[in-house]
Amino acid sequence: MRGKNNKSLIFRYMKKIFFVLLFAVVSMSAKAQLKVNKYHEPIKVEKKWLNYDPGEVVFRDEAPQTEGSKIYHSIIPNPTTYIQENARRVLQTLYYGPKDKNIPKIKTINYSLVNQDGISWKYGGGDMVGVCYTTGWIEKSFQNNDTMRLDYETRGVLYHELTHAYQLNPQGCGNYEDGGENWCFIEGTADAVRLACGCFEQDFKSKDRPRAESWRKGYRVAGYFLYWLQLNKDKNFIRKFNASAAELNPWSWDKAMKHILGDKPENGVEELWNEYLHAIGDK
Ligand SMILES: [Zn+2]
Repeated sequence: MRGKNNKSLIFRYMKKIFFVLLFAVVSMSAKAQLKVNKYHEPIKVEKKWLNYDPGEVVFRDEAPQTEGSKIYHSIIPNPTTYIQENARRVLQTLYYGPKDKNIPKIKTINYSLVNQDGISWKYGGGDMVGVCYTTGWIEKSFQNNDTMRLDYETRGVLYHELTHAYQLNPQGCGNYEDGGENWCFIEGTADAVRLACGCFEQDFKSKDRPRAESWRKGYRVAGYFLYWLQLNKDKNFIRKFNASAAELNPWSWDKAMKHILGDKPENGVEELWNEYLHAIGDK
């Protein structure tokens, strides 16, 4: 009896050790997974922006009958808070602080869920900005029932569109419609902000970064370039780039680079682009 008791005691003890070890391994790998999971928690809102009023959010669900709408509401129970919080993240990426006189005062953000083609777009002007987000895109982003992925995508799209609400508009360099330097500034900055806020992969080897010959392609091509300049040349680069739109007239990409980094030949936009391509291994 005694021997049997001892044996079962040892067995129970070993079983306990086994489960403790198993638990340690599982929790360690969960932690490691969380570390490499790109659908991470949103970046922290800096203290100075916590009470900043980014504008009143008027949320409209224009497609309540869709699956996308149901998914959206189940994941984002309070759209107003969600949009305002993410607006503060955009603002802190574009400006040093709430006292910056250049910040456009937005009174109203009209945000609508719509059942239309496309992903998301911005409309409006002056102190009103409107953003539409499609339920079809919500459904597509939720294909694997991955809540984190949908949040990451929804927030990323929001960062891009809200940048259009708060960014400055460079003067004397054509208009948005001609697809030139002005357009490239507007769309490049919007994707740079999305990237800097962590909603594109911040790895230059990532598939999120499109390979391209010229920064003039705009969007992510210009966005990753601007983010690289922020990492390697000036930690406030995106803020300074945005501010250059109010400081230079006529504005140009080349002038903005030299304005921020110093008036030297190596700081011309083509020289920096070339340096960037070499640094990230594209050349
Ligand atoms: Zn855009």
